[in-house]
Amino acid sequence: MDRSALRHEPEMCIVCEKLKHNGIHLYTSFICSDCEKEMVRTDTGDPRYSYFVRQLKAVQSPKCIHDQAY
Ligand SMILES: [Zn+2]
Repeated sequence: MDRSALRHEPEMCIVCEKLKHNGIHLYTSFICSDCEKEMVRTDTGDPRYSYFVRQLKAVQSPKCIHDQAY
């Protein structure tokens, strides 16, 4: 059998935490296309934007505990 089909396994989106096929990879994380569109549409002043950023930060550098904010 053709095992290359296994390459299309869904990945868990770090934002909505659902298994999705379509999306982008950011660092080592996966963001589904739905959340990606949502993030692009969301204004930086929107409270939800902070939520997205927090979700992303949590996975960007799992080994680094220190906050890198200046
Ligand atoms: Zn998502």
